[in-house]
Amino acid sequence: MATTLMTYAGPAEPDALVTRTGGVPLAPAGTAWPTCAECGGPMQFLAQVLLDDRARPTVRADGRAELVLAVFMCQTDPGMCEAWSATDGANAAFLLPAEGLAPLSAPAVEDEEVLYLGAANAVELTDSSLDDYDGARQEWGRGDGREVLHVLGRLGGRPDWLQGDETPSCGGCGRDMDLVAQFEEGPHHATAMNFGGCGMAYAFACGPCRAAAFLWQC
Ligand SMILES: [Zn+2]
Ligand SMILES: [Zn+2]
Repeated sequence: MATTLMTYAGPAEPDALVTRTGGVPLAPAGTAWPTCAECGGPMQFLAQVLLDDRARPTVRADGRAELVLAVFMCQTDPGMCEAWSATDGANAAFLLPAEGLAPLSAPAVEDEEVLYLGAANAVELTDSSLDDYDGARQEWGRGDGREVLHVLGRLGGRPDWLQGDETPSCGGCGRDMDLVAQFEEGPHHATAMNFGGCGMAYAFACGPCRAAAFLWQC
């Protein structure tokens, strides 16, 4: 199976309905900003991925979407809440209908970094014939004018685990969830997601149950 890489395509419009990392979360009208089950603080918005009606990633980054996967993680006091865990409530992943989404109103905070990453990154998709994610990533990074740090992750396919297999099962149907995307921390240190400094994150979904899950390893 080939690998679809997500690569950095420059700054994204912060509220665009495209696959991106950072920027402003989109949600149905009236949605409350998600909060951490451990500390009660508002979570940081990390990324959204456009999906078709079966919760499969759309082929093009700006392709027609039926669903959107949105991912949040607690950064109120980095390292204190178990933000890596798919089940402890210090992160959250949602499968939302793409129709009618609007920018989510933010709660009042002293420091906006708690809510937002420092940059909204647009995503370009590149197919590699290599099956192995890290091989595909390294090969892409050797291209002219490219940097391996500009690989933002993988879209669909199988998770490339840094540690053991932690594929979540769906709370609705009990089935193993499907990988939607795997994320690197990001191209620039100052605006990166915090997966322990060297980690990788994994977002999963179960289309029929409209369920999603997120975790990271380091
Ligand atoms: Zn927390
Ligand atoms: Zn399910």
